[in-house]
Amino acid sequence: MKITDIRATTVTVPLQGIIRHSNGAHWGRFVRTIVEVETDEGITGLGEMGGGGESAELAFRGLKPYLVGHDPFELENLRFAICNPTASLYNNRTQLHAAIEFACLDIIGKKLGVPVYQLLGGKVRDSVPFASYLFFRYANEDGSGEVRTPEQLVAYARALKETHGFTTHKLKGGVFAPEYELECFLALAEAFPEDRLRYDPNGAYSVEDSIWFGKRIEHLKNDYYEDPTWGLNGLRRVREMVRIPTATNTVVVNFEQLAANVLNPAVDVILLDTTFWGGIRPCIKAAGVCETFQLGVSVHSSGELGIQLATMLHLGAVLPNLAFAADAHYHHLQDDIIVGGKMRYENGRIRVPDKPGLGVELDRDKLAEYAELYQRLGGYPYDRDPKRPGWYPLIPNDRFAPTWL
Ligand SMILES: [Mg+2]
Repeated sequence: MKITDIRATTVTVPLQGIIRHSNGAHWGRFVRTIVEVETDEGITGLGEMGGGGESAELAFRGLKPYLVGHDPFELENLRFAICNPTASLYNNRTQLHAAIEFACLDIIGKKLGVPVYQLLGGKVRDSVPFASYLFFRYANEDGSGEVRTPEQLVAYARALKETHGFTTHKLKGGVFAPEYELECFLALAEAFPEDRLRYDPNGAYSVEDSIWFGKRIEHLKNDYYEDPTWGLNGLRRVREMVRIPTATNTVVVNFEQLAANVLNPAVDVILLDTTFWGGIRPCIKAAGVCETFQLGVSVHSSGELGIQLATMLHLGAVLPNLAFAADAHYHHLQDDIIVGGKMRYENGRIRVPDKPGLGVELDRDKLAEYAELYQRLGGYPYDRDPKRPGWYPLIPNDRFAPTWL
């Protein structure tokens, strides 16, 4: 089989609100680029990448000469064709490679009539558990939906738990000062004594603030303490002082960093992202290293539509050492671009697709609708806050949002 063409379409899908994080916000929508890889046998594979617009569409189109004629079964060769580590010093194509790898796995699965998890060693679970992934949120235009106070946060978590069945709550923090977010996190712990917790200020805190905060939550049912501060050395210092496993999706995102972390541990749990690591297969290789050295693993969310979610489900299905609920932004979306609409949570879990390939199909009408919405609204600066013009954070941050905003 040979690849004959690649197409990329940038879409914008609305979120339920403006969700806030340490670097800014998602401005009420996600921008994603949907990739379609075509073959001479009429089988098309689907991929997805974060961000987009002209530059992403052009970047994928620019890879066409590398891809045409390549056999989609040749995944190891594909890696070196696109992101040989020394050639990639000049062109970081890891995330582009990820989207193409998803599409090739989808093609192989469709050709062989098997789900992607069968190509990856077979599933060890039929569904993947997810955390509630709570964000502070600005009010919608009609005044509803604000998540700012501890009471609002607890009510929001309760509503998500009732709808989707989550039993793990992750708070995305680093928006307000540590004292205030501690109050919020403790309120969650008190409201859900039976559930598990995790806190992720996205590397915004100093080492000292991280230690101060960490010591005050040590007694809770924490899965882990996710990226309290920036950098392997910072995390190493926090880990020496706080008795909660540390986790990262920011500073162990490739094999060099994983090796450094094995040789001199800073992080106990590696959050594997199918885009950041360059595909599903690199995540499985990394999980194997983690299994050997008995580091924990989980599945990270970089903000997904249904295609990327399918990659996370197939990854989660085959990892024997997945000891934590995965993260997904998925339930914050209003819609999806796959046939059948959004996948559903049952008891906090999503079933792993069983159809051939990734097991999801593009809904052409939705793709067109949200491509047009992208054309109308354009991108948004993820690292800016629509309500705090001119603001940007430092690392470590001391420019936290006032608690009234
Ligand atoms: Mg994180």
